Amino acid sequence: MAYLSRLRLTNFRNLTGLDLELSPGVSVYFGPNAQGKTTLLEAVYLLSIARSFRAENERELVNFEAARAGEQALVDGTVEGKDERLRVIVGYQTLSNAAAASNGMDYSVRKEIRVNRLRRTAADLVGAINAVLFSALDIELVMGAPAGRRRFLDILISQADNRYLRSLQRFNKVLQQRNQLLRLLRDGRAQTGELAFWDDQLILEGSWVTWRRHEIMGEVAAACLRHHESLGGEDERLALEYRPSVPLAASLEEMEASFRQALTAAAPRERAQALTAVGPHRDDFDLSINGTDMGAFASRGQARTLALSLRLAEAEVLAAVRFEGPIVLLDDALSEIDRYRRHRVLEKASQYQQVLITTTDLEQVSGYFGAKAAYHQVDGGTVTPYDLEGHGANSLEIPAFAAEDARE
Ligand code: ATP
Ligand code: MG
Repeated sequence: MAYLSRLRLTNFRNLTGLDLELSPGVSVYFGPNAQGKTTLLEAVYLLSIARSFRAENERELVNFEAARAGEQALVDGTVEGKDERLRVIVGYQTLSNAAAASNGMDYSVRKEIRVNRLRRTAADLVGAINAVLFSALDIELVMGAPAGRRRFLDILISQADNRYLRSLQRFNKVLQQRNQLLRLLRDGRAQTGELAFWDDQLILEGSWVTWRRHEIMGEVAAACLRHHESLGGEDERLALEYRPSVPLAASLEEMEASFRQALTAAAPRERAQALTAVGPHRDDFDLSINGTDMGAFASRGQARTLALSLRLAEAEVLAAVRFEGPIVLLDDALSEIDRYRRHRVLEKASQYQQVLITTTDLEQVSGYFGAKAAYHQVDGGTVTPYDLEGHGANSLEIPAFAAEDARE
């Protein structure tokens, strides 16, 4: 069972100098807005997926003042694994840069990843420390654009299967090259025959990516249905369906033929648009309740509950394939849902080895965990242990806690 035992941050957004010891179990980080709570979980998740889940440009991760002074930012985490200790460092070096200056930003960053001191690529790192992040932005999984749902699948499968991210990276490279060739063809600057090589590569990588998504979606859907039901959706008929851009074949072997057929059929469209028209970059999945498309018609609470069910499914699938539960990160993810659902989510999440929870409303979380969690106050970029008992925060919540249990 793996857990993060130490986290050191240098110039990471507003967390300029932090050295935290962490233990297994539930840790709660609370404080008002804009103190660094999300930043803390962003750093932990960065050690897992090798990039920020929210930065548009990773340049913004370096504390602004530090960046101006040419300093670096470091996220340095130690994970106690089953039989080894892993030290992962993701660093950002600031480089003053003439090209960036002309854009109004006078620096760019170079990212470097080290695992036990050795330089590694993102594809090497992903899968080493598994984590699942529940974020306030997750409502976009239900109501947002397909790209967010593809990212959900990509992050999950990359952590589950270390071949996936490499295959996806190769696919994306082929896609770029092929699109460029399609543009040259449109402009009469290339020969049609040159497409054949890129078609083969696109089909090879694309078929595999599509097939892996199909396989994992089966598991995600089953787990998501179960979680959704126990979060109060007993009367709702939830359906999750993968919508691959290329029609699914009966097996991976037949997938390539299906891909080739789809590509042939799309040829006139591709020529007109100078864009690759079919492939995993156009995939999506549908969520519906009682036949109604949730992407268009979910209520806020419905969308929240669905998003939470998807994240719980993600954690469960990861735990099953890796024989080890992920680190669970809950960033302000429990607003807009009622007490019953909130407590069910906390109950399910706290079955994992290590759970880090942020909230602006301490009572919302301490009311459920009481003394069974460790509490920390986040204030202006500092994190200090907080003694719940000493503040008597637990006493008023006890009757409510008992009433909650009576619903079981
Ligand atoms: P909320 O409760 O509103 O979600 P939070 O505690 O999660 O708040 P964070 O998102 O972690 O807050 O942001 C903490 C602060 O860090 C914000 O004031 C933000 O503007 C600031 N910040 C973000 N990037 C940088 C940076 N590169 N340098 C300095 N400060 C930054
Ligand atoms: Mg936040």
